[in-house]
Order: sequence, then C-alpha cells, then structure tokens
Amino acid sequence: MNKWTLVAVWVLSVTGIARAEEGFEQHDGHAHGRAQLDLVMEGSSLLMQLHSPALNLVGFEHPARTRDEREQVMRAVAGLQQTEQMVQIAAVAGCRQQGVEVEQGLLATVAPGQAENDHDHDHDHDHDHDHDHDHEHEHEHEHGEGEGEAVQSAAVMHHADVDVSYEFHCTAPEKLDKIGLGFFARFPGIQALDVRLITPDAQRAFTLDSHHTDIGLR
Ligand SMILES: [Zn+2]
Repeated sequence: MNKWTLVAVWVLSVTGIARAEEGFEQHDGHAHGRAQLDLVMEGSSLLMQLHSPALNLVGFEHPARTRDEREQVMRAVAGLQQTEQMVQIAAVAGCRQQGVEVEQGLLATVAPGQAENDHDHDHDHDHDHDHDHDHEHEHEHEHGEGEGEAVQSAAVMHHADVDVSYEFHCTAPEKLDKIGLGFFARFPGIQALDVRLITPDAQRAFTLDSHHTDIGLR
C-alpha cells in the first residue's frame, strides 16, 4: 500500500472537523495565505506533505510565461527542495532524507497563444518544424475568436496549488520530540499552516504561524 494512501484516508476523515473549527473563509481547501502540512510517523518512516496555493510560494498562480516568471517558479522549487532548511530535525533521532518531490503545474504547459506574446518559440521548436509553426501562426490570426476563448479559460483556471513530499528514515524516531519548520522564513506568503499529524502517540490537528514554527510531537 502506498504510504500516502494512509495520509489521504486520514485527512479525509478529519478535514470536516478541522474546517468546522476554523473561523476563516475557505474555498475547497485553497485559501491564499494558508497552507496544509500532513505528517505521518510509522515505524522508522517519517512522511511530510506540504500542500499550498502557488501564490504563497511563487507569487502568482498562472502558467509561467516570461523568463522572470519561470525563474520565480524554479527558485521556489529549489527552496522547497532544501530539505534541511525546510524541515529541521534533531540529529539524535537519526533521520536521513529518503526523497523530496515537488509537484507544480506552473511550468508544465504553455497555453495556446502565449508563446506568441512571449516572443519565445522554444516550446514550438520542441515539437514543430519551422514550416509547421508558420502555419500555426497564420491559423491563430485567422481565428481571433478562438484565441480569445483560450485567454478566457486561462483566467478561469487562475488558482493553482503546489504539493511537496518529504520522506525520512529515522533510526531513533522515539527521540524525536519536535520538528522545526523553515517554510515561514523562506516563504512569507505562508501566513498560517494547518498541520495534521499521525504518530504512534497522537492524532492531532493544529495551526502554526511565523511565531510558532515548531511541530511538537510529544
Ligand atoms: Zn489561488
């Protein structure tokens, strides 16, 4: 069984409770300024998954179009991948990082018409010959209405999330009494972090902020 299945099942069971207790407005789990962190300790495994609106981490939520925007996304991804800064674990617990995975959609696709505005034809060259590209160009000009629809649908898809998974193997997990988080310092866009954790000792949900950045495990 995938370890994250356990997180998903548990999160589904407590999400209703957590939301009822929260006094803020939330739209399907996507609230700018807030992020979620799910933590599961089982045996020697420590799994943590951050789920955040892209706005908190990158500063925008549309597909990256310009070089600056692409660099902003890459900088955010690189920051999240600096595990020892994002997740601070006392050496006594003997935890070794097994992997970190960042999932984001801002660099994945270029919507129709955007490459043209960007004056950057890298993406077209990837799969089109120049000749084909010219035809595509004409086609877009001939069908201006279609282009407008594409822009409109991009606006509807304004919101985007980023998921980050951290996995550790710990030789002495019982000695782990807290975990420090570096997300607030690196990403000021995260103002509140809703933490849900499962350990052999506890199942709890609580909220951290820039003044309370440690997860207590005892
Ligand atoms: Zn959003």
